[in-house]
Amino acid sequence: MADKHNKFSLAIHGGAGAKLGEDYSIVEQHLKQLTEDGKALLKAGSTAVDAVEHLVRQLEVSGLYVAGKGSAAASNGCVELDASIMDGATRNAGSVAAVRDLVYPISAARAVMDKSPSVMLAGEGANAFANDHGLDLVANPDSYYVMPPGVSEDDVAVKEMQHGTVGAVALDVHGNLAAATSTGGVFGKPAGRVGDTPIIGVGTWADEEIAISCTGTGEYFIRTGGALTVANRFKLAGDTLEQAMWSMLDDVKSLGGDGGLIAVTKSGEIAMTYNSDGMKRASVSSEQPVSVTTFAPCR
Ligand code: ASP
Repeated sequence: MADKHNKFSLAIHGGAGAKLGEDYSIVEQHLKQLTEDGKALLKAGSTAVDAVEHLVRQLEVSGLYVAGKGSAAASNGCVELDASIMDGATRNAGSVAAVRDLVYPISAARAVMDKSPSVMLAGEGANAFANDHGLDLVANPDSYYVMPPGVSEDDVAVKEMQHGTVGAVALDVHGNLAAATSTGGVFGKPAGRVGDTPIIGVGTWADEEIAISCTGTGEYFIRTGGALTVANRFKLAGDTLEQAMWSMLDDVKSLGGDGGLIAVTKSGEIAMTYNSDGMKRASVSSEQPVSVTTFAPCR
């Protein structure tokens, strides 16, 4: 672990599926509280990877976002969840895809990272792994899940790719970066559909220089390369952070999709960009106070 340098940065998002006209004040209050919690953790010396896992767990269990408790069933009547986590310090990563009825899918991804030789487990195998490792299971799936603010029965019934996700990126005081992302995916999805979220390098990426968490119509993020495209533009092509992010997002748009992403760099820079109607998001750093917004323009 590198020496402490007392500098930290944190950004979290509650998804780029926000709809104009909806009231997200409860969500923004929650994001504010979590950002304060994350700040305290990072100030106290938490590693970035522990902080992002902790924050995504709180987002998943809240029922306020399309992830964990706020997810809806796929066409087979089962709630199938995707999550991934990456530790930039080691480039270790873990993910689960189409996993069922876990309270904290992100902790299953963390367990895959820490306790298995695999990077990604899917479906039944992921569930068996979660059982074997004593991860929290939803006791009663028929009554556990709720519709988050801004989501209606219509969104769940109509197959129009309405979507949501949660994510967190952090730079810790040791100079290390991490990213974590978790989702219920798109509403009305076919059984077995897997989006960008659990794919390392697409929905989530962290290395020695940058950490990224994406949200949006996953099919388009997969087709643009997503997070690693941004990382490479930033590291190799000389783009500023914002240029790199917009380049990928503009590509998503040109293919017909929308969404957003959050990123932090090793210098502590934070950027949060989206091209959908809004993205629920919050940030804080050792240099900047907590800021929370959903619809404030970002370009
Ligand atoms: N990216 C997620 C998916 O396609 C959805 C979202 O971020 O809103 O599963």
